[in-house]
Amino acid sequence: MHGNSYDVIVVGGGPAGTMAGAAAAEKGARTLILERDSAFGIPVRCGEGVGIRQLERFFEVDENLIASRIEGLIMYSPDGTAVPVASSDLGLVLERVRFDRWLAEKAARAGAHLRTRSEVDGLVTDNGRVEGVYYCHLGKRCKAEAKIVIAADGVESRVARWAGVATQLRPVDLENAYQFTLAGLKEDLRFCHFFFGNDLAPGGYIWIFPKGDGIANVGIGVSTKLCDGGTAYRKLEEFVAKRYGKVSIVGEAAGGVPVARPLQKQIRDGLIIAGDAARHTNPLTGGGISAALIGGRHAGEIAASAVDRGDTTEKGLKEYQVRVDTDIARPHRRAYRLKEGINKLSDESMDNAAHQLLSLPPEKRTLRNIFLKALASQPKLVIDILKVFM
Ligand code: FAD
Repeated sequence: MHGNSYDVIVVGGGPAGTMAGAAAAEKGARTLILERDSAFGIPVRCGEGVGIRQLERFFEVDENLIASRIEGLIMYSPDGTAVPVASSDLGLVLERVRFDRWLAEKAARAGAHLRTRSEVDGLVTDNGRVEGVYYCHLGKRCKAEAKIVIAADGVESRVARWAGVATQLRPVDLENAYQFTLAGLKEDLRFCHFFFGNDLAPGGYIWIFPKGDGIANVGIGVSTKLCDGGTAYRKLEEFVAKRYGKVSIVGEAAGGVPVARPLQKQIRDGLIIAGDAARHTNPLTGGGISAALIGGRHAGEIAASAVDRGDTTEKGLKEYQVRVDTDIARPHRRAYRLKEGINKLSDESMDNAAHQLLSLPPEKRTLRNIFLKALASQPKLVIDILKVFM
C-alpha cells in the first residue's frame, strides 16, 4: 500500500488500463489501478477476436488464454455469396475473462496496486490541472492523489469529460453491439464469418467468432444513427433463428463501440487518455483490444518518464500524443474514411463486388483486393486502401 498518494493513477481495469498500469509500474512509478467492477474482465463485452501478430507485438500469449485459433475469414455479401479471404495474419479468439485477469496480474507483479469495486466519481484538480481522483469503495468515499491520472475508463469515459475534453460521440460514430454466445452450433468453426447488408446490419456487420467445441460468439454491430440497441438485438435474433433454428444461448453481452476518429488531443495537464476512452478502436472493424494495448503501453511509459523528469504538464506529455498519432490516429483516420466509403455502398454493389472476387484465384482474394473491388466507384479511397492493407 502507498497511502493515498501515487505517481500514477489509472482509472479502468480493461486492457488499456492494466497495460498502462503494468508499463508505469515496470518503470518504477508508484501506480494505482481503480476498477469499478468486482473483478477484472467481468462482465465480458467483447467478441474476443484479435490478430495473432497484433498480440505478439507485446507478449507471447499463454495457450490458457486462447479459446481457439482461427484458420481464416469468410465474408458474406447481402445475397449470401461467401468470399474466403486470403490472409497471412491468422486470428485468435481469446477468453477475455482470463486475458483481462492475466493482464491485471501482470500489472500487480510489476508492482502496481490494484483495487476493484472502486468507482471513480470525480477528479481532484487545481487550476485546471488534474491532481488525483475521488472514488467510492464499498460505500466509502476516498480521495487519492497522483502526479498523473490515466483515463482508461472505456467507451463511456467520464474522466476525460470531467477534465474538460469534448468526448461526446456523434451517433454515426457509435455502434450498438449485441452478442450471444451460442453452444451446439453446426457451423464450420475453423473460420471467422462476417455478414454484410444494409438491412441485415445497417452501418455494421454480423460476426461469428468460434470458441471451440461447437461454441461461438455471434454478434452484431449497427450504427447508432440508423438503429437503436433494441433493433440490434432483434436483427441478431432473426439472424440466429434463420441460420440455426433453435439453439442454446450460454451468454449475452451488449455495449457501445466507438467507431470514430481518435480524440484530437489525448493529453491535458496531469492527464493522459487511452483505449476506448480516447477512441483508439479501429473505426472500420470496431476491434479495440490491440489498440487499447498500444495506447495503454504508451500511456504508462510516458506517464512514468514524465514523473521521473518532474514535468507532468501537457507539454511534458507531448511524446504520448506523438506516439499515438503515429501508431493509432494516422492509420485510423484512413480506416475511418474507408468506413464512410463502405457505409455508402448499396447491397447490389456489395453483391457485384463479391461475384467479381470469386472469379479471382483464391490467393488474390486479399482484404486489400476486396476493398479495392468494393470501393471501385470511390477512386479517392485507393491510397487509403493501399496504406491500411499494406
Ligand atoms: P474497457 O475494456 O471497456 O475497460 C474499461 C474499464 O473501465 C471497465 O472495466 C470499466 O468497468 C472501467 N470503468 C469505467 N468507468 C469507471 C470508473 N468511473 N471508475 C472505475 N472504473 C471504471 N474488440 C476487439 O478487438 N475484438 C472483438 O472481437 C471485439 N468485440 C466487441 C464486441 C462487443 C459487443 C463490444 C461492445 C466491443 C467489442 N470490441 C472488440 C471492443 C473491445 O472490447 C474494446 O475496444 C476494448 O475492451 C477496449 O479496452 P479499454 O481498456 O479501453 O476499455
